[in-house]
Formats: sequence, structure tokens, C-alpha cells
Amino acid sequence: MIHEQIQMVHRAIEVACDSSGRDNGSVRVLAVSKTRSSAEIRLAYDSGIENFGENYVQEAVQKIHELRDLPLTWHYIGGIQSNKTKDLARYFQWVHSIDRANIASRLNAARAEFRPNNPLNVCLQLNLDEEVQKSGVSARDVEELLRHTKQLTHLRVRGFMTIPKPNADSSFVQEGFRQAAELFRKYRDIGDDNWDTLSMGMSNDFAIAVAEGATLLRLGTVLFGPRVSLQ
Ligand SMILES: *Cc1c(COP(=O)(O)O)cnc(C)c1O
Repeated sequence: MIHEQIQMVHRAIEVACDSSGRDNGSVRVLAVSKTRSSAEIRLAYDSGIENFGENYVQEAVQKIHELRDLPLTWHYIGGIQSNKTKDLARYFQWVHSIDRANIASRLNAARAEFRPNNPLNVCLQLNLDEEVQKSGVSARDVEELLRHTKQLTHLRVRGFMTIPKPNADSSFVQEGFRQAAELFRKYRDIGDDNWDTLSMGMSNDFAIAVAEGATLLRLGTVLFGPRVSLQ
């Protein structure tokens, strides 16, 4: 079942790439596995998926432990509380949701402690909707955060992540993706060889994200089916 879903999603991404003139190899899939069991993750791995995204630290750490026999890459995509930065730096290879300087500094210090020779891959989370409750850094403040994060030697800054506000009118969502892509290109100049990741697009809008330049799609429902828990 998951195998067929994954095949279908890969075909849909191919179609989206073709219609926007993009190379199919330029878009990767991150399987969002929050609420999914280790057994489900194993099945996804058997179908060729190696990158998994989690939102809840405790839940993730348990699965990372149970699946340590597989060569998986774990991405943290949830909101970051400062008391969780040690676990993030210790167990994950990627963190997509840095939105303030103090979190970047804490992750850097913890990574120095746990993996001194292996920098943590990070993205800065953009909040382009000007919603105050939402996590993410505004377009106005992103440059300062980027400059701060880039000088932290145990972090490798890969790009931006964004989640546009859901809207029944997809042109608003598209506009959010477009703005993120614009910033991604703009800051390539102060980026470096590692600046290669635009993490955007979820189950409902990934085709639009591909058209606007996403390089990493975060997909849960279309791969695993609807989530049954409250989250
Ligand atoms: C849950 C989640 C996803 C996946 O959502 P789907 O709609 O199930 O594809 C992607 N990104 C983030 C940040 C999430 O929290």
C-alpha cells in the first residue's frame, strides 16, 4: 500500500517537474513520519525512502533508536523549544526550523559537544505571512539571522523552509512559495556551496511548490495516508 502511494507521488512529482521545465532529479522527498510507527517507516525505507521528518522530539528519539539498524537521515521540522536543542543536535542530521539566533547558538554548542566533526545541516524557517503567533523569521529579519547562523562552525546552513498559510485559493499559497524562492535566490550570494535547499510543499500543495522551485518536499499524508492522532 505505502509502496503504491510512493510510486504515485514520484509520478506526480515527475509530471510537475516536466510541466515547469525542471530536472526531475532536482526535487527530493522528505517523508514526514510524525505519528507513524517504526514498522511503517521500515516499509517506506523498503520502498526507497531514506529521509524522514519528525515534529515531536520524544516520539522521534524513540523511533530513531528503534530504527538505528537502517541508514536513515532524520530531519527535525517542528517548532523548537530551547530545552530541546541538545536532543536535536544529538539525534538529528537536519533541523529545518531555526527561527532565532539564540536557538542557532544553542544547537551549535550542543553539536560541538556530541558530533564535533560533523556539522548539523540547518534551514532557516521563513514566516512570510506576518502572522505573529507563527514560528519563522520575517523577510525583514532573515538576513541578520542568516549572517549569525553562518558563522557558527558546527552548523551547515543549507537554505530556507517555509509553510505558507493554508488558503482555499491556491494563488495565495503560490505567492508564498514564490516569495520564499525569491529570497532563496537573493541570499545565494552570501551563501556558499552548501546553499542548496528550499524545503517547501506538503501533501496538498507540492505540485505548486515544485513549479516555484522547491528542492525538498515534506510529505506525510500522500505517502502514509491520513494521520489518526490529534496532530
Ligand atoms: C505535518 C507536517 C508536514 C506534512 O504534512 P502533510 O500535509 O501530511 O503532507 C510537512 N511539514 C511540516 C512542518 C509538518 O508539520
